[in-house]
Amino acid sequence: MRPAQADNWQGAALDAGAGAGPRWRLPYAARPRYLQLETVTKCNAKCPFCPQNEIVRDPARMPDAMWKKIVDDTRGWGVTYRPFLTNEPFVDKRQPEIVRYIKQNDPTARVEFNTNAELLTEELGRELLDAGVDIMRFSIDGFSAATYEPSRVGIPYAKVLERTTRFLEIWDQEGWRDKVFTEVRMIEVPENRHEIADYRAYWAPRCTEVLVTQLYQWPWTGQKPEDVVKKPCLKVLDEMFFYTDGNATLCCWDVHEKAVIGNVLEQSVQEIWQGHAARCLRALLDDGRRDLIHLCSRCNAYKDYDFGRFATGGAGA
Ligand code: SF4
Repeated sequence: MRPAQADNWQGAALDAGAGAGPRWRLPYAARPRYLQLETVTKCNAKCPFCPQNEIVRDPARMPDAMWKKIVDDTRGWGVTYRPFLTNEPFVDKRQPEIVRYIKQNDPTARVEFNTNAELLTEELGRELLDAGVDIMRFSIDGFSAATYEPSRVGIPYAKVLERTTRFLEIWDQEGWRDKVFTEVRMIEVPENRHEIADYRAYWAPRCTEVLVTQLYQWPWTGQKPEDVVKKPCLKVLDEMFFYTDGNATLCCWDVHEKAVIGNVLEQSVQEIWQGHAARCLRALLDDGRRDLIHLCSRCNAYKDYDFGRFATGGAGA
């Protein structure tokens, strides 16, 4: 969840379970609203800032029965499904089938992709639109090969530019503009800062929205124990994440499965969301005890966010 969304959150608090008298009480959703599914572990890029190439999960591809069970468990909940995690979604050729399965008989479901677009052929783009995709986000961190290619290693900028532009032409000219949200987004770094104005000028007329964001830091990438952030976390209020092996984890940044909260082969999605492991971890986060959660003990997400509106008046709040 982004800080601006949390500021406007109106939801009721879900009992966090363990840990009486937490310093904060965050409004965890009664059911997840966003589900991310790692349908494959692979990516077509080797970006220096991303730990994707460290993943050695088995299986490398989520079995059909597993992603279908996750979808079946959550039909009618108004979920936005993201059929990818740390991987590039279109490495998985099943994506049009996955979108169709999610959308069939569930008018509340939405499907969202975030792609680098290298593998997004015209044919695949049309299949996804016909299948009912709702949101397409394109991550393009630069406006030239010189700035783009050192950060998205292995992907030719010219191909990304051509394929994204072509998809957006089809979206615009073939009647999808009012049905599908499209976004082109860039992480701002010193190397591409001088291109932001040209980037906006090119992409703004071609998509629904242009977003320029700041670089974030993955947990366990140089943070020191003494710098632990003793605050809750916004990322876990209404999102759930599944790996190819069926494990559900607390956070999408948990590349190495340090904070597993259940497995969908043994439990339903709802049982995992409200299960003991998830409730204990939420209680620790609500008490500002990231230091007691292995994954979170080296994470500085939301360190500058003011959690005051969620304070309970408990110890030290
Ligand atoms: S690692 Fe922990 S503290 Fe960091 S974003 Fe994920 S859940 Fe929040």
